[in-house]
Amino acid sequence: MQYEPVIGLEVHAQLSTESKIFSPTSTEFGGAPNSQVSPICLGMPGVLPVLNKKALEYALRAAIALNCELHTTSRFSRKNYFYPDLPKGYQISQFEEPFSSGGWLDISVNGETKRIRITRIHMEEDAGKLIHDQSGNVSYVDLNRAGVPLIEIVSEPDIESPEEAVEYMKKLRSIVRYIGVCDGNMDEGSLRCDANVSVRPKGTKKLGTKAEIKNVNSFKFVQKAIEYEIRRQIQTLESGGEIVQETRLFDSSKGVTFSMRSKEEAHDYRYFPDPDLLPVVIEQSMIDEIESTLPELPEQRYTRFIEEYKLPEYDAGVLTSSKEIADYFEQSLKDGGDPKTLSNWIMTEVLRELKEEEEIGSFPISPAMLSELIGLIDKGNISGKQAKEIFAEMISSGVTAKEIVEQKGIRQISDQSEIESIVKEILGNHPGELARLKAGEDKLMGFLVGQVMKATQGRANPKVVNEILRKSI
Ligand code: ADP
Ligand code: MG
Repeated sequence: MQYEPVIGLEVHAQLSTESKIFSPTSTEFGGAPNSQVSPICLGMPGVLPVLNKKALEYALRAAIALNCELHTTSRFSRKNYFYPDLPKGYQISQFEEPFSSGGWLDISVNGETKRIRITRIHMEEDAGKLIHDQSGNVSYVDLNRAGVPLIEIVSEPDIESPEEAVEYMKKLRSIVRYIGVCDGNMDEGSLRCDANVSVRPKGTKKLGTKAEIKNVNSFKFVQKAIEYEIRRQIQTLESGGEIVQETRLFDSSKGVTFSMRSKEEAHDYRYFPDPDLLPVVIEQSMIDEIESTLPELPEQRYTRFIEEYKLPEYDAGVLTSSKEIADYFEQSLKDGGDPKTLSNWIMTEVLRELKEEEEIGSFPISPAMLSELIGLIDKGNISGKQAKEIFAEMISSGVTAKEIVEQKGIRQISDQSEIESIVKEILGNHPGELARLKAGEDKLMGFLVGQVMKATQGRANPKVVNEILRKSI
């Protein structure tokens, strides 16, 4: 039998506010353990949580960018369970009345646009972090993260492959970064997902029983964990077994998922409205204000790059997937120049140098420096090959192209008479090749151009060399 996977993702995105969701405590990453914890984070008797307005604003920005409907009144509940990283014994989260629902996000699948529906987005607080000692006997508790604001973005089960799940995560990450509400740093846990996976006989409608893989924190692991889970479920069914509804974890070193708890062991969270928090009422003026300050989103920028700069879809996609790269491209273009040439340079030379796209912020070659370098090629002052060498030197030294060209006396030979005399010399040294070229063996053209380039250490302008060679035969 043929099976098809069905996937729904619950993505947690940490909002990049300076303070926690219900207290003025710092959210800065990497502080000494338990140095950023207040009585409110701990739920000490008598404390009163107060909603961070910035967190609400950021949550609204995300919901608007993800095409969600906003609910003017929403409520916080307590989700009760025991775990050592949860000092209050409950997590404050939105349950029955989230602030938004019914959105969508378009992803691109094999060149086609596919819409993934978003069920809801709600606000909640993060828990602390457990660090398990190597010995296996001791665990440490760091509560700095307890109370950090999150939004949870729940998708409909519209995702049909591990690749689509990764695309969806990438797109979400790009959007929350564009609108500046989450740094998207997956290593630090700012963006992570629970992947719900089931399989069903191909072409059928009824959903299979799902397993939920908790806390997957990289694109690679999303791919691997879902791939494994699909295989496991198909094998189980094929061998006559049944899928049990359960929560699983992904072991990235072994590349497998394993059971954490079954449905029978599932928590009864005894949700109830948090009596310490007022309902959240969103005024239209706040929504208007946010809508008016929302920047251009990746999708809009992609379309504009194609229309305004006449870029191929592929280029527009690469350049706009990260806001920083798109900004870099547009800043480089400010001084003029051909958009496609610039796009080629960024997509190959620049992106090759970056491990992460956001590193472009500290890239030694500024947009103005890149545009100057390309200008030198356009003017015929340097060759493309020289430009690549200069580019490498600019990265290591931080010096501008013009300065390097002057210091080293680099120039491209475009002068007709100078090239003519070199061509003459080369043809004189290769009478055999010249004869064969004349007899119609056109591939020798490349050989002879190569000889001229070699004789000039790559400094001759290839276009001029070609013209003169053609004339000479
Ligand atoms: P739960 O109550 O177990 O949290 P929900 O119905 O709230 O389940 O859905 C949680 C997530 O699981 C959503 O992203 C949803 O799209 C997804 N999901 C629900 N049912 C399935 C299924 N049968 N297969 C895959 N994903 C599913
Ligand atoms: Mg769930």
